[in-house]
Amino acid sequence: MVQILDEILKDLPKGIISDSVFEGANIILYTKDKEFFLNKGETIRDIVNKIKKRVELRPDPTLTMELEKAEEFIRKIIPPEAVLGSIQFDPQRSIVVIGAEKPGIAIGKQGEILKEIKRKTFWVPNVERTPAIESKIIENVRSVLFQNNDYRKKFLHKVGLRIYNGYTKERKEEWIRVTFFGGGRQVGRSCVFLQTPESKVLLDCGVNVAFDDYNAYPLLDSPEFKIEDLDAIIVTHSHIDHGGFVPFLYKMGFRGPTYCTAPTRDISALLALDYIGVAFKQARKNLFDVNDIKEMVKHTITLNWEEVTDITPDMRLTLYNSGHILGSSMAHLHIGNGLHNLVYSLDGKTPVAILDKNNEAAFEPIGKIVDQAMNKHPEMVRKKGDVEEMPNVGGLKTFAFNPSTLKTEIAPITRLLRHPIKEDLY
Ligand SMILES: [Zn+2]
Repeated sequence: MVQILDEILKDLPKGIISDSVFEGANIILYTKDKEFFLNKGETIRDIVNKIKKRVELRPDPTLTMELEKAEEFIRKIIPPEAVLGSIQFDPQRSIVVIGAEKPGIAIGKQGEILKEIKRKTFWVPNVERTPAIESKIIENVRSVLFQNNDYRKKFLHKVGLRIYNGYTKERKEEWIRVTFFGGGRQVGRSCVFLQTPESKVLLDCGVNVAFDDYNAYPLLDSPEFKIEDLDAIIVTHSHIDHGGFVPFLYKMGFRGPTYCTAPTRDISALLALDYIGVAFKQARKNLFDVNDIKEMVKHTITLNWEEVTDITPDMRLTLYNSGHILGSSMAHLHIGNGLHNLVYSLDGKTPVAILDKNNEAAFEPIGKIVDQAMNKHPEMVRKKGDVEEMPNVGGLKTFAFNPSTLKTEIAPITRLLRHPIKEDLY
């Protein structure tokens, strides 16, 4: 058994947990003990505080009420004003997904309706808002996920095994290496390969639609890249030049996770389908087909902004709102338990981690910070060709790599530079 599960189980009464599995970085415990499930929230909270990982307690699938009876109960207990939509059961995970136009009403005051559903049916209810406008793509994505419930459960457990194998709380002394496979000083085919001795991750994998030859795709034929060693893909946003090549990786046999926000997953699937359609109309060869897009959806793990999650034994990912398009994120990677911090930002508003005087990290668009500083002290701005430069009078600090200690450290920013970009960014 994986060490972290051992650590959790030894703090719980013997035999109370019937199964313990991973759903990505989340740890799920199943119990056959009704009393324990309904009343032992505190015990689980204590475990979460101790191990600092997300842990969820669910009833064992043998406890759940029959589907028809449970659906009848749910339809009766939720007030009609919530406007119920579909009710879908995931029997393997003891989860029921309830669609409602007004989720707040379906949940009830302080979640009392959901608590009652749990108590009476032993299903764990998740309420999802019915889209205001009917959306074929969202329906299709959800149905791909539901049809593959069985596979998803095994896949998410495998992802967890990879993350927690050799899990340690210690800070790791190790190198990181960043290689640009595309998008370095160019618009299109954004793709950054991030490696540590332990992990290999791609940040974005896009297509340059201005070309239809070798120049259109990231340089995945680089000798250091082996698809079978790739741990994960992170997609910052759904524009084709950032996520358009991801289905191709699944065509090539990649079966690991893609991390992004839910809107990025859905719009990426839509744009990938559109990309096939355009290729067909232009009588061009298709790079991938609908099945590869389905594989991408099946293997996508969605994250909310500011939700911290482990993605490999030495990388922890947090997505932040980047304000570029719906669902777009910048990715903050916390590597080797804090040895390195890397922020990958993207198009247009280019935010970076800046530390204020109390060393509190704030993610701000760097352009905004520089603009504000320069407008405040116009007398200090010097012009060198296109570039404007001034000393950092605000005392701003950031994360920086120190070559003499080979460590990422907090360092003052020495100069603020502004170089207006004239091209449009996508
Ligand atoms: Zn973009």
